[in-house]
Amino acid sequence: MPIDMPTMLVSILVVALSMGAAVLASGWRIPHRDGLNFWGQGLLLLSAGFILFALSVRLHNPWLIWLGNVLLAASYASVLMALSRFHAHACPLWLTAGPILLVALFSLVFLHQGEWRVIMVEVVLLWQWCAVAASVLRCQSGPLERGRWLLLLGAVLMGLVYAVRIVAQWLDWGQMEHLWPPHMAQVAPHLLSLSGLVFLTLGYVLMTKERADAEFRRSARLDALTGIPNRSAFLDTFQHVLAQAARGDWPVALLMADIDKFKNVNDTYGHLAGDAVLRAVAQRLQAGLRAQDTLGRYGGEEFLVLLPDTPVSGARTLAQHLRQSVEQMVVSWEGKKITVTISVGISGQIPAGAQDAQALIDRADQAMYAAKHAGRNRVEVADALPPPVSTPA
Ligand code: GH3
Ligand code: MG
Ligand code: MG
Repeated sequence: MPIDMPTMLVSILVVALSMGAAVLASGWRIPHRDGLNFWGQGLLLLSAGFILFALSVRLHNPWLIWLGNVLLAASYASVLMALSRFHAHACPLWLTAGPILLVALFSLVFLHQGEWRVIMVEVVLLWQWCAVAASVLRCQSGPLERGRWLLLLGAVLMGLVYAVRIVAQWLDWGQMEHLWPPHMAQVAPHLLSLSGLVFLTLGYVLMTKERADAEFRRSARLDALTGIPNRSAFLDTFQHVLAQAARGDWPVALLMADIDKFKNVNDTYGHLAGDAVLRAVAQRLQAGLRAQDTLGRYGGEEFLVLLPDTPVSGARTLAQHLRQSVEQMVVSWEGKKITVTISVGISGQIPAGAQDAQALIDRADQAMYAAKHAGRNRVEVADALPPPVSTPA
């Protein structure tokens, strides 16, 4: 079945228009950091360009082609701006406005020389798609996710479309400057660009979704007040480290730190001040740890610190350091200065021991309460405590 160019152009126009409207609607009233507004706008500019190309078949007015080309270059610049916005990178003006000006200039200079107009304009459009592909590859924060792969595929297809058209024009295969009569050398690249557009837009929307999902997964593992791992995230890490320690036969130590008389802070200064103190203590503790250590919020004003490959003696030194650091900390709140102290309990794992995570937490808890009973603002080690009294079955 032969496809004529006006049908092809109208198909691209309808697809671009529908996808543009859908993208704009999905980005409506949400923060513009995803760049969905630029992407939707790009698709609408593309549709406008294709309306003009389709009209030019009937009206034979070269100015329609000129404006259509400019809109096409503007549409691709908008795609590049969407990607820059997504990656929070500045997009240089020469990369956005430059191609639009060049296309306007070449289309004008070669207004009545279709062959040269196609070659010169489409070299610029090819350059724009190379810039899009480079932008997708450049902002690689990890392995390419599915959305980025689709986007890259779409950009490559679009680049291929222009490469094929430039070569075809150069070799004089299909009179690319004429949109009539129907010719496969004209229709095939347009079919390719239709699928390129679909890959690009699906890839872009998927990319925004993948980022939102990743952020959600990350925030679900962090404590909202202090920003450190929450209890369940900490326990996951703990299990993982214990398994590694058992395999590698190295010791693990666990600290449990509880803020002393924290209820007094809330009662005296208010709950918000208490929150500020909790955040400050979390920061202090975090600042005193090594990269391989993990800090987590276990409960209200209780923190756990996991120390891989650390004997109890080393954990005690670190705990004393953390205790002193918190003691010296001053939190300013509405002109008042708040100071707090912590009591710390330590439990250590015997290398290749069979202790599980909960047993270690219970022991650290027990040591922490011993520190409370001994007067607070102290460090106690569980191994130094008498073993828990076992109740007969
Ligand atoms: P101790 O020295 O024995 O540990 O005394 P304490 O007052 O610290 O212990 P207690 O368990 O009696 O009080 C803990 C307080 O921590 C009570 C609770 O209101 C407060 N708390 C728990 N979570 C939060 C929070 O997220 N924000 C604030 N501001 N307070 C919290
Ligand atoms: Mg407390
Ligand atoms: Mg407590």
